Amino acid sequence: MSTTTGQVIRCKAAVAWEAGKPLVIEEVEVAPPQKMEVRVKIHFTALCHTDVYFWEAKGQNPLFPRILGHEAGGVVESVGEGVTDLAPGDHVLPVFTGECKECAHCKSEESNMCDLLRINTDRGVMIHDGKSRFSINGKPIFHFVGTSTFSEYTVVHVGCLAKINPLAPLDKVCVVSCGISTGLGATLNVAKPKKGSSVAVFGLGAVGLAAAEGARIAGASRIIGVDLNSNRFEIAKKFGVTEFVNPKDYNKPVQEVIAEMTNGGVDRSVECTGHIDAMISAFECVHDGWGVAVLVGVPHKDAVFKTSPLNFLNEKTLKGTFYGNYKPRSDIPAVVEQYMNKELELEKFLTHEVPFSEINKAFDLMLKGEGIRCIIRMDA
Ligand code: NAD
Ligand code: ZN
Repeated sequence: MSTTTGQVIRCKAAVAWEAGKPLVIEEVEVAPPQKMEVRVKIHFTALCHTDVYFWEAKGQNPLFPRILGHEAGGVVESVGEGVTDLAPGDHVLPVFTGECKECAHCKSEESNMCDLLRINTDRGVMIHDGKSRFSINGKPIFHFVGTSTFSEYTVVHVGCLAKINPLAPLDKVCVVSCGISTGLGATLNVAKPKKGSSVAVFGLGAVGLAAAEGARIAGASRIIGVDLNSNRFEIAKKFGVTEFVNPKDYNKPVQEVIAEMTNGGVDRSVECTGHIDAMISAFECVHDGWGVAVLVGVPHKDAVFKTSPLNFLNEKTLKGTFYGNYKPRSDIPAVVEQYMNKELELEKFLTHEVPFSEINKAFDLMLKGEGIRCIIRMDA
C-alpha cells in the first residue's frame, strides 16, 4: 500500500477556469477514491478535439472551473471500497465511457452503451455521491467525462478503466484511450467494409486517420479522404488513403463529387469531423442498395440532421457509434495487444510532445490543425 492511500493528494492540474481562456496549472487537492472508484497517477495524456469543444464551450454547455482531458495512460495509486478488478501498480487507460458489466447493454454483445457509465458530458461530479474529488482550497473543481486526465492524479470509476499490459509503453498507447480506438472501431466494428470495397473518410484528424487505418486493415481498395484542410492529404497517405477530396475545390456538394468518382457512391463512409454538413454529405455519398455511413464526430448541440427520407427508401443505411463500439474494459486491452504485436502502428499518429507545463501549446497546435496527436508528459 502506498503512503498516500486514504489521504488527500496535492498535485498539479491544468484548470480551465473560463471558456476559451488558457488553462492554468494550479495546485489541487485530489480526494481519496470512494466506493467503486480508483485514483490514478497519470503519466501521459493527449489532447483530443472533444476537449477543445468543451473548453471553447461554443456549441456545448459551459461547466467551469473544470479539469479537462480524457485520452491518457496511467498507473493505479489506490482503490476505493468494492474495487476488486484493479490494484495499486496496475497500468490503465481511462475511458470517457464505461462498462459496469452488469446492465443490459454490458451484457449485450451488440452494445457498449452502458446504462450506468455511458458518457455524460454535462456531469462534472462522481456518480457515487454527486461530488467532485478535485478542489482548490476546499472549492470544488468539476470533472470532465469521468476522466479529467489533465491532472497528475485523478479519480475514475473502476468501470471507466481498461487494465492493460504493463509492458505497453504508456507514452504510445495512451492514444488508444480515445481517438485511435474510436476511428479504428468505427470502421472495423461498425462500417465493416468488405475486401476490395471503397470507403470515404470525412475528416483526417486522429480519429479519421484511425478510421482509414481500419479500412486499410479490412482490405478496402479505395480509401477517399475528405478534408477542408489540404495539408492533411500528405499525412493521410501513410494511413492508406488513396485519393483526396477538398470540398472547397468544387462548386457542388461533395457527395455529388464522390458519387461521380465511384460510379454512384462509396460502399462505406465514416464521418470524423463533428460538422453537420460533413455528416449529411457522408450519408448521402454512400451507394444506394448497400451503402452504410457511420457518424463519429461530436456535433454542435443545436445541430439537426436533414436529409430526404428517400435516401433511406433507396437502402442507404445511417449508423453512429460511440467509441467505435468497443467495450472499454473487455475490448481495449486487446487493441493494446494489437500494437504490441505490431499489427497497429501508433507511432505515426504521434507528431508532437510537450511538457505538462506547456499544455496550452497542445491547444494551439490543434486549433491550427497542425499534426495529429500531441502527447503531454506529466513528469516534465
Ligand atoms: P481533428 O480536429 O483532429 O480532426 C477533424 C478534421 O476534420 C480536421 O482535419 C478538419 O479540417 C476536418 N473537417 C472539419 N470540418 C470538415 C468538413 N465540413 N468536411 C471535411 N473535413 C472537415 O479531430 P479528431 O480528434 O480527429 O476528432 C474528430 C471528431 O471525432 C471530433 O468531432 C471528436 O469530437 C469526435 N470524437 C468522437 C468520438 C465518439 O466516440 N463518437 C470519440 C472521440 C472523438
Ligand atoms: Zn453497464
